[in-house]
Amino acid sequence: MTTGLLEVGSLAQARDLLAADPDATRIIGGGTGLMLMLKAGLLSVPTLVSLRKVTDPALREIEVRGDRLVLGGLCTLSDVLDHPVVRRELPALVAALRRLSSVRTRNVATVAGCLVHGDPHMDLPPLLLTLEAEVVVLGLHGERRITCAEFFVGYYEVALAPEDIVIGLEIPLLRAGTFATYRKFTGALAEDWAVVGVALCLPQEAGRITRPAVAVCAVESAARRLPEVERALDGVTAADVDPDGIGELAASAVEPADDHLGSAWYKRRVLSAEVARGLRAWAREAQHGGK
Ligand SMILES: Cc1cc2nc3c(=O)[nH]c(=O)nc-3n(C[C@H](O)[C@H](O)[C@H](O)COP(=O)(O)OP(=O)(O)OC[C@H]3O[C@@H](n4cnc5c(N)ncnc54)[C@H](O)[C@@H]3O)c2cc1C
Repeated sequence: MTTGLLEVGSLAQARDLLAADPDATRIIGGGTGLMLMLKAGLLSVPTLVSLRKVTDPALREIEVRGDRLVLGGLCTLSDVLDHPVVRRELPALVAALRRLSSVRTRNVATVAGCLVHGDPHMDLPPLLLTLEAEVVVLGLHGERRITCAEFFVGYYEVALAPEDIVIGLEIPLLRAGTFATYRKFTGALAEDWAVVGVALCLPQEAGRITRPAVAVCAVESAARRLPEVERALDGVTAADVDPDGIGELAASAVEPADDHLGSAWYKRRVLSAEVARGLRAWAREAQHGGK
């Protein structure tokens, strides 16, 4: 089947095209994931709809609005990584993006495509889950927000209706003193796909972790948070944290599947070690200001 490309001038036009024939129409962002799937015959779509010519400034904005960092859906990952506001407000996102594939991919891959692609190995979902980010979607009945916890549903599956368009992402700013990190363990090069990825977001009050968030990717069919681990960390201080014990708890809280990057057994071992390393880094920072 041949695939055609339509460049629309407005979001409403794109949404109407998707609604008219959802099975035959798909939005294309940077095309980094979609084109590989089309070429491999995993997907067959007669019409790709590009938003490149839509001039709505909200699609390309990067700014702090109120207590949130707002990223337009058409921003490339490089736009986000290089932006001074993101560097100032969310260094953990910048660090995660630096290890996401190559400059070539990041220069074209979009925020929206990165959210919708749904590969369980992707780096941003665990971090966004711990930051309690929301995906901004334009659908048949207007704009709505979907929490990342609801959005990442399964293997290459996200909670979108066929006519939905992702137009942005909103990330709550971190409270002062919050430790946030994404740890990516790869087999060879730093920017390879993750064997296991772990995000930790550890707000603190009076030296105790308060309402922690921990999430993983590349382990199960979709990234998800680990409530058992979060409960165990709630109220813990840097002096009494047990990184190895919490690491083991994380390993026992998941049901990994073997994949081309590692066996289920290996993923459990890596997850345990990475959670422990993340907690040691937090404890160091909490006790000695990171020195
Ligand atoms: C060589 C290579 C290495 C990679 N390594 C990594 C890695 O280490 N870590 C990692 O996290 N990722 C990695 N990726 C995946 C990469 O992050 C994704 O391919 C990319 O983020 C997808 O963004 P895109 O804009 O190119 O989306 P596209 O490929 O254009 O689209 C992806 C999906 O999103 C949908 N879509 C796009 N825009 C919208 C929209 N506005 N509304 C609704 N649906 C939309 C498309 O229909 C499609 O289903 C790698 C990719 C490549 C090619």
